Amino acid sequence: MKTAHTIEEVRSIIRAARAEGRGIGFVPTMGYLHRGHTSLVEESRKKTGFQVMSIFVNKMQFNDPKDFSNYPRDLERDLSIAREAGVDLVFVPTDEVMYRDQRTCVDVDLLTDHLCGAHRPGHFRGVFTVVGKLFNIVLPDIAVFGQKDIQQAVGLEKMVADLNFPLKIVIAPTVREDDGLAMSSRNRHLNADERHRALCIHRSLKKAAEMIASGERSASNISEAVGRVLAEGSPDKIDYVSVVRYGDLQPVDGISPKSVLAIAAFFGSTRLIDNMIMEERDEKFACIY
Ligand code: AMP
Repeated sequence: MKTAHTIEEVRSIIRAARAEGRGIGFVPTMGYLHRGHTSLVEESRKKTGFQVMSIFVNKMQFNDPKDFSNYPRDLERDLSIAREAGVDLVFVPTDEVMYRDQRTCVDVDLLTDHLCGAHRPGHFRGVFTVVGKLFNIVLPDIAVFGQKDIQQAVGLEKMVADLNFPLKIVIAPTVREDDGLAMSSRNRHLNADERHRALCIHRSLKKAAEMIASGERSASNISEAVGRVLAEGSPDKIDYVSVVRYGDLQPVDGISPKSVLAIAAFFGSTRLIDNMIMEERDEKFACIY
């Protein structure tokens, strides 16, 4: 596995991989890697021959400076996990490499009006801008993102379509701990009590899936039931429980194929997100979470 710190190094290593006829798969991350991240590399390897990962805690996407300074970091551990996962090239840029008097930003209208976009001002501008820059540095054939951050993934699909990036976005399933908690670098901030209470998120998704399986199609009935199950777990704050359309992430009244149920809640000072996508399969609703 190679490690690059500059854009020039990345470009030259990727040029060489392309010259060998290998397709480029890309997994951008902020590090503190877990199985959610490595599952994206596995997904990418099914489709491409050279795996690139970036590790960069992108200050621009943190609306809360405390969240940025507390974000867990452990590069040595990350490099060994990435190597184990079969990554070919890790790009670890500094702030100076990524941002020199940056004046250009990427916003995706409409898709950031609700969910996390409404609660984290400037967050998605930071995400789309840094990912757009990384795409232009790496020039991958595909880039893989997790369903867990659904607004990010759908927003990036739109950015790629609107700005004609010559690559395909792949969305991979959420990887969970055995008890259902979605893996997240932020989970390490949860104390035992918060970690235990946070399981209500997964329970609430299960409740929604059960209601949908038994024919419930009202978004407000489902959101209310989800809210009740969450409340039983005593989150410190619920940011939102929302049912939106997949395509533009606008709220809907009724569940239909490609609706998304999304949740954000605080346990202590840690904000967790999770979601479920509804799809029609064999004339039935499948709930993917
Ligand atoms: P992050 O390092 O949190 O910015 O995440 C980097 C990528 O990993 C994003 O595409 C996330 O959606 C994805 N990711 C984070 N957690 C998970 C998870 N539990 N399952 C699948 N993908 C994940």
